[in-house]
Amino acid sequence: MNIALIAHDKKKNKMIELAIKYKDVLKQHNLYATGTTGTLIMGETGLNINRMKSGPLGGDQQIGAMIAANEIDLVVFLRDPLTAQPHEPDVSALLRLCDVQNIPLATNTASGAVMLDAIGRGELDWRMGVNPLYSNK
Ligand code: PGA
Repeated sequence: MNIALIAHDKKKNKMIELAIKYKDVLKQHNLYATGTTGTLIMGETGLNINRMKSGPLGGDQQIGAMIAANEIDLVVFLRDPLTAQPHEPDVSALLRLCDVQNIPLATNTASGAVMLDAIGRGELDWRMGVNPLYSNK
């Protein structure tokens, strides 16, 4: 499955902790991340990650485009709710598109852990039926 990982600056350490804890789950999937988040996770875990532009430079929108196409199966976006972001419109758009497409979305480490446990147990396998990338066209 396709998993998107994004963390605002003050949440990047939490994202690395999460990625280390769930490395065995994550390595079984295709990983996408905004630029800085992806570089940090790759450096700390050795996981292979498809990196987009940095979030403030359009990375959220690039992942948002995949979400709009229903091509992302799980989004873990560790938002910083206490710091203003220059690209807040992009952040809001990404979160909104997850709801448009009914894509599982975790915005903090507690929900991220629950969802990564769930994907590890195959509980998001229903995504195979709705993600157009998996259809035999
Ligand atoms: P970054 O982007 O991973 O490039 O820092 C994340 C964001 O701020 O949306």
